[in-house]
Amino acid sequence: MQPDIRTIFGAQKEKVHRKGSLDAKERLERVLRIDSYLRDEKNLQDLYEALYNDLRKPEVEVIATEVGVIQAQISYIKKNLQKWDRDHRVSTPLPLLGTRSYIRYEPKGVVLIISPWNFPLNLSLVPLVYALAAGNAVILKPSEISSHTSAYIRKMITELFRWNEVAVVEGDATVATKLLELPFDHIFFTGSPRVGKIIMAKAAEHLTSVTLELGGKSPAIIDETADIPRIARRLAWAKSINCGQTCVTPDHVIIHDSKKKEFIEEFRSSITELYNRAGTGTEHSPDYCRIINPHHFQRLGSLYQDAIDKGAHLLTGGNFEEDDLFIAPTLLDNISEDMSIMQEEIFGPLLPVITYNDRSEVKDIIRRHPDPLMLYIASDDRKNIQYFMDGNPAGGTVINDYMLGYSNPNLPFGGVSNSGMGKSLGFHCFMEFSNKRSVIHRKWGSLDMIYPPYSDRVLWM
Ligand code: NAD
Repeated sequence: MQPDIRTIFGAQKEKVHRKGSLDAKERLERVLRIDSYLRDEKNLQDLYEALYNDLRKPEVEVIATEVGVIQAQISYIKKNLQKWDRDHRVSTPLPLLGTRSYIRYEPKGVVLIISPWNFPLNLSLVPLVYALAAGNAVILKPSEISSHTSAYIRKMITELFRWNEVAVVEGDATVATKLLELPFDHIFFTGSPRVGKIIMAKAAEHLTSVTLELGGKSPAIIDETADIPRIARRLAWAKSINCGQTCVTPDHVIIHDSKKKEFIEEFRSSITELYNRAGTGTEHSPDYCRIINPHHFQRLGSLYQDAIDKGAHLLTGGNFEEDDLFIAPTLLDNISEDMSIMQEEIFGPLLPVITYNDRSEVKDIIRRHPDPLMLYIASDDRKNIQYFMDGNPAGGTVINDYMLGYSNPNLPFGGVSNSGMGKSLGFHCFMEFSNKRSVIHRKWGSLDMIYPPYSDRVLWM
């Protein structure tokens, strides 16, 4: 039986301080427990069931976007942890002759991970494996909205760890608020910018460091040189996987006017090819997820209705089935900035299409919104690609494809300003959970030459 939050926190603090740092072997052993658990056939079946109940996620997507991503990060940790754990020598400037300098990555201590519902396993366990690789004790609060997967995570962690090493605390904002009263050594939050601000304000009370993995409106620019059939197919998939409930999904398209007609045709036929080959409708495809709950269904319905009421045209999709929480991939044009669909992150399968004639207009459109998590550019023109990147900050950019931003652990993943701070994946994530202690070790010599009395010293510049 797991005790209350304060007892868990106190016991984790005590253990971390009493025991000191775990060596790389012990840390890796903890990380690998998670790997073994996920490889067990029975555990995998339970996970399929949990994610089906939460999002109607197909098994292939459970592997590709949840389990596979976690296992890829675990393999990366396995390959690199010994190296990260070593003291990192740095060069020594001349006045420090006789000393040796290095950086030692130490665990921050007891860390809090708060995760969202859209990739509920991935976005809980990826930060967790890096927190463990860095040697921390962890309290993890998964989302109350993806309740089946959260229960699965709790069962898994309870089987694998003692609560004074890793504990899962389930619950909603009330529980999160209680957790945020505690002086954690780091908070890793994934969720909306709105809640990100609350997290940062609470963390400031204890001067706790934060990683904020947030969202926003990630634009997809398509210029006049783009290969439309390829791009439209990739974009149709990116906007439909997980029913568009993905932080890195393209939020809206900004396309050169000369390519719009072709894009719409190709987008339509791609959706048919991906989800409706039998001709019975996307709603009957076993490969298409559902909206997480009635609240988000209604939120998306309101965005759609507001756009239509203000003059948007429906180009494809537009079917909403509340009983089944189904929304078809939906393209809209004749979009104006006063529509709510252009004022908040969509986070669903609705895709507004905006056209431009001169590339300078693209920058104006993008600058109306805070800096996005991703900026997508579809172009075969090097100068255009550079032009669109210059002066348009984004957490990351993918050129001529979508979604890949969260896939290469050699690259930092995360937002900029309103879309987040701090980075996930690979060494970047290991560092988020580590204190970079700088160490100077004197072997010989001294700084005697600058000690008083100064009357004996000769100044030289
Ligand atoms: P959310 O911000 O509503 O909730 C995230 C977590 O915060 C949940 O565990 C929730 O219980 C908790 N929470 C909610 N209110 C809180 C409060 N007042 N105080 C403390 N904690 C609170 O986000 P969501 O709806 O779960 O997820 C969608 C958002 O997450 C989107 O904006 C999306 O772009 C973003 N997201 C970002 C990434 C990324 O890696 N950058 C990944 C996935 C989702």
